This record gives sequence, C-alpha cells and structure tokens, in this order.
Amino acid sequence: MGKETIINSKSSNHEINDDNNHVHQSSSIDYEQNSDQSSSLLTNLLPIPPVSTGKRNDYLIWWDYFMSIAYIVSLRSKDPNTRVGACIVNDENRIVGLGYNGMPNNCSDDELPWFRTNDDPMQIKYLYVCHAEVNAILNKNSYDCKNCSIFVLLFPCNDCAKMIIQAGIKRIVYLSDRYSNDIKFKASRKLLVMAGIELIKYQPKQRQILIDFDQFIDK
Ligand SMILES: [Zn+2]
Repeated sequence: MGKETIINSKSSNHEINDDNNHVHQSSSIDYEQNSDQSSSLLTNLLPIPPVSTGKRNDYLIWWDYFMSIAYIVSLRSKDPNTRVGACIVNDENRIVGLGYNGMPNNCSDDELPWFRTNDDPMQIKYLYVCHAEVNAILNKNSYDCKNCSIFVLLFPCNDCAKMIIQAGIKRIVYLSDRYSNDIKFKASRKLLVMAGIELIKYQPKQRQILIDFDQFIDK
C-alpha cells in the first residue's frame, strides 16, 4: 500500500544521500564521545575528524534543487491562473524529464482559450491543456521513468496520476494539496495509494531563492 509522509527537509532522512555532511557529522560525534580513550588502541581505529575545507554550507540540498527547477519550469506556462512545473529525477539524482502545463505541440496557445469558465463550452482550457506531469513524462530523455521520483508544485490530478503510475514512477514529492477536496484529486489519491506510490508533502528548507542574473552580467 502507498504511504503518505509530510516532511520538513530539516528533519528528513531523505537527505542522507544529499552529501557527505551527515557522515562527517556522525563521525565527529563518535570521535568526541570516545576521545577520553585517547591512549587506547581503539583511538587508532576511530574515524578521523573532519577537516574544514571552506566548503559552502548554504548550498541547495537535492530536494530543494529539484523543487526549484520545477518552479522555474512552471514560469514557462502561459496559464493566467495556474502555473505548474514538474521535474522527474532518477535514483541517481539525475533529471530525466521536465514539463509545465501548456497547449499540445503545434497547437497555438494564442488561438486556444485559457478560460476556466465560458458560456461557450469549447472555450474552456481544460479541454486542451497538457498538464506538467504528462509533459515531463513525454519529454523524458531516458528510456523510461521506472523507479523515478516526480517533483511537482501541486498534487497531481487523476489523469496525471494514471500516467505517473503507468510510467513506473514510484514517488511523488509535492508542495501543495490545495485541491484535495475536488473529486478529481480524491480519485487521484485513491489510485496512487492503491498503486503503492509514495506521496510526500514537502516543505523546502530554503523557502525563497533569489535569482540574480545581475551579479553575472558584465557591467
Ligand atoms: Zn494533471
């Protein structure tokens, strides 16, 4: 059965692969706990304490990085109400697919409607828009998405849930579940739980990230 987890990145054990910091930290603690045995033979077997290398500490951790990319990708969307981005990552932390919500290829997003409601039922966007998750799966640059994670800003709808399951994606990491009372999202959750997909509501460690091109632009 699927399981749902709400995690805060500060306490997440999902960060264990993020870098070697955790290993260094635990080694350091072990070393200090045993430092009173400095004359014993054991001392020679203890881990060497970390040496400061001057490495930055405020770099983006992996999950914040993937969610940031999903966010950046969402900025490509032309939808005036809902911008969604998706980033598919394999188990080696490599990005294999990106997508945002938009009109299908070769279908003009200047001609098709972006309205949520309209007197003319043909003028409603839901008939035409491809969701971010679907685009990310279809745009993938790997053979398949088996055992991948998908990072999305919003919990996926039921149509995307079907695609995610069929693509072999095993984990969904999302920020917002704001439409959880909508029947499409209830059906989505039902399917995803039934299929054993891991569902993680994520709270990024870095809540805001500034992109400042100016610091690289030659004056
Ligand atoms: Zn969807």
